[in-house]
Amino acid sequence: MNILVINCGSSSVKYQLIDCLHEVTVTEGVTELSANVDAAVAVKQLLQKFRNEIIDAVGHRVVHGGDTFRDAVLIDAAVLAKIQEWVPLAPLHNPPALAGIEASQTVLADVPHVAVFDTAFHATLPRRASHYAIDTTLAEKHRIRRYGFHGTSHQFVALEAARYLGRPLNELRLITLHLGNGASACAVEMGSSTETSMGMTPLEGLVMGSRSGDIDAGVIFKLLRDEVKNVDELDKLLNLRSGIKGLSGLSHDIREIEAAAASGHDGARLSIAVFAHRVKKYIGAYAAAMGGVDAVILTGGIGENSASLRQRILQRLEFLGIQVDEDNNQHAEVDHQNKVALITTDNSRVPALVVKTNEELMIARQAACLIGQQASLKTDLSIPIAVSARHLHLDKHTFALLFGDDAEPTHHADLSQPGQFSCKEKVTLVGTRNTIEGVRLLGPLRSKNQIEVSRTDEYLLGIDAPVRDSGRVKDSAPITLKGPKGIVKLKEGLICARRHIHMHPDDAERFGVKNKDEVEVAITGGPRDLIFCDVLVRVSHGYRLEMHIDTDEANAAELDRQSIGELVYSGVNDRLASIRCAKTTNQN
Ligand code: ADP
Repeated sequence: MNILVINCGSSSVKYQLIDCLHEVTVTEGVTELSANVDAAVAVKQLLQKFRNEIIDAVGHRVVHGGDTFRDAVLIDAAVLAKIQEWVPLAPLHNPPALAGIEASQTVLADVPHVAVFDTAFHATLPRRASHYAIDTTLAEKHRIRRYGFHGTSHQFVALEAARYLGRPLNELRLITLHLGNGASACAVEMGSSTETSMGMTPLEGLVMGSRSGDIDAGVIFKLLRDEVKNVDELDKLLNLRSGIKGLSGLSHDIREIEAAAASGHDGARLSIAVFAHRVKKYIGAYAAAMGGVDAVILTGGIGENSASLRQRILQRLEFLGIQVDEDNNQHAEVDHQNKVALITTDNSRVPALVVKTNEELMIARQAACLIGQQASLKTDLSIPIAVSARHLHLDKHTFALLFGDDAEPTHHADLSQPGQFSCKEKVTLVGTRNTIEGVRLLGPLRSKNQIEVSRTDEYLLGIDAPVRDSGRVKDSAPITLKGPKGIVKLKEGLICARRHIHMHPDDAERFGVKNKDEVEVAITGGPRDLIFCDVLVRVSHGYRLEMHIDTDEANAAELDRQSIGELVYSGVNDRLASIRCAKTTNQN
C-alpha cells in the first residue's frame, strides 16, 4: 500500500511517498512556502509529480486536534469543520494543513484522506497533567488546557525502544525526549502518554530553537507593560526570538551554537547550559511522576545528532540508574535502517537510547491501518445463523440397540453442512425428572454418542450437562435413551453444545480468524440487541459458513426469519469488524 504523507507547516510543505508494506520511503521532498507559493499551491504542484504513481491513501499531519481527536480519522466535511475549530489555538499550523488537505482532496478525489494529529497521542493525559491551575469555568470556556504535541514522534520512538529492549510497551515507563527545533518531553507509561512538556500550544516546556519554553507568566505582564507594543509582538518575541536564538543572540541552530561555544562565545555557552538543564529537570520530574523509569529515549535533530548535548543532559543522573557510556555516546549513529543506538553502559540499570524518529512513517502506518479497517468493514461479512434444535448423534452399536440390528439411518432431509442429514428416526430422552420425546437423529453415524440439548431441556430432564465443543463428550452427563427396539443407559454423551461458527478456510481468512478462536457476536437490529460471547470458531474444508446457536439462545435474541444484525467480533489481531448476519435455516 502506497501512502503519500503530506506535512504542511507554517513555512514549508514536506512530503514522503511511503510503501507501507515494506516500510520504505519511495520518494520525499520539501517545498519552501513563499508569498507566491502557499500551502495549497505547493500541494497541487507536488501532486503533479505523482500523477503517474499509484497512491492508495494520503496521510495529512495536523498539529492541533484539541480534545476532539483521540486517533487518526478519515477526513470528511465534518472532520474539516472540527479541525477548523482548533485554528485559534494553532493559528500558524492548522490553516496551512487545512489548505493542503483541501487542495489534495480536489486533485485526488477518489483516494481516502486521513488526518493524523500531533495532539492525539496525548489524549490519555490524566486530569492532573492536563489542567492548568486556573479557574475551571474560564478554562472550559476558552478550552484552555494542556494538549501536548509531537505525539506522533513520541509514540514512534516509544514503540521502537520497546522493540529494541525486547519488552512489551505496556510494561514500560519511558521518558521520550524529542529535541529538534521544536522540543518536548513525554512520560510514556505503559504505552500511554501521561505527561508532556508542551501545553495548550507548543510554546510551553523545554527551551527550543527560537521558543522560550516555560516562563513565569509575570514576565509576560512585565514585557506587555514595559516593552512590546501589543500581544502579537509579544507572541513573536516568545515564539521566534527566544530560546537558543534569544539566549545566544546568534542562531537557533545547535550546530552553529556548538561551534561558537567551542570558540568561547558566552551567549552560545549559556544557551547550551539552559537548554540541557531544562531537559534534565524534566527527566527528574517525569521519573518522579511515574514512580520510576525503565528507559530514556532521545530523538529529533539534536537528540539524534549532538553527542555533547546528550552527555550534558544525562550526566549526573546515575542516581536514577543512568550511566552513560561515553564511547557509545560519541559513536552513536542512527538512520532509518539502524534506528536505535544504546548509549549507556552494560551495567546501567536504566538504558538510554538514541532513536531515529520517523513521523512520516508513523503517519503512513496509521493511515494504512485506518484504511485496512474500513476495507474490512466494507467486505461482505454476513454469517447466516442456524438454530440447532435438540438432536443426537449415535454410534453404530447404540443405534442397533435402539432401532434393531438390521436397521440403517433413514434419510429425512439434507442439512446445511455438506454430507450431513437429518434422519427419520427419533429417540426419547429419559431424565430423572421428565422425558423428552421425538428427539431427531442426525446422520451419518459417528464413532461416539453425542446428545445435544439446551439449558431449558436440561432443566426439564433434571440433568446438569456441561457446555462443550462438539466432539468433546468425555465425562459429560449420563442419559437414558429409549428407541422402538430397546433402552440404552449411556454413562456419558449428554452436552449443552457450545455456540460456534462453522467456517471454510476461505471464510476464516476473510474474517481474519483461525480454528478455535473465540469471537464475540453482537446481534442488533432485531427486536432485541444481544451479545454472544465466547463463540467458538471451527474451521474445516468440509464446512459451510454458519453460526449455530441453540433454541434458548435464539429465544433470548428473539431471532426470527427476518432478523438481521450486526455481528461484532474482536479477533486475535485486535481487529474489530462488523458482520451482517441473518438467521436462515433451522436444522430440524
Ligand atoms: P524540527 O523540529 O524542525 O523537525 P529537527 O528535528 O530537524 O527539527 O532538528 C533540528 C535541530 O537539530 C537543529 O537545531 C539542528 O541544529 C539540530 N541538528 C541537526 N543535525 C545536527 C548535528 N549533526 N549536530 C548537532 N545538531 C544537529
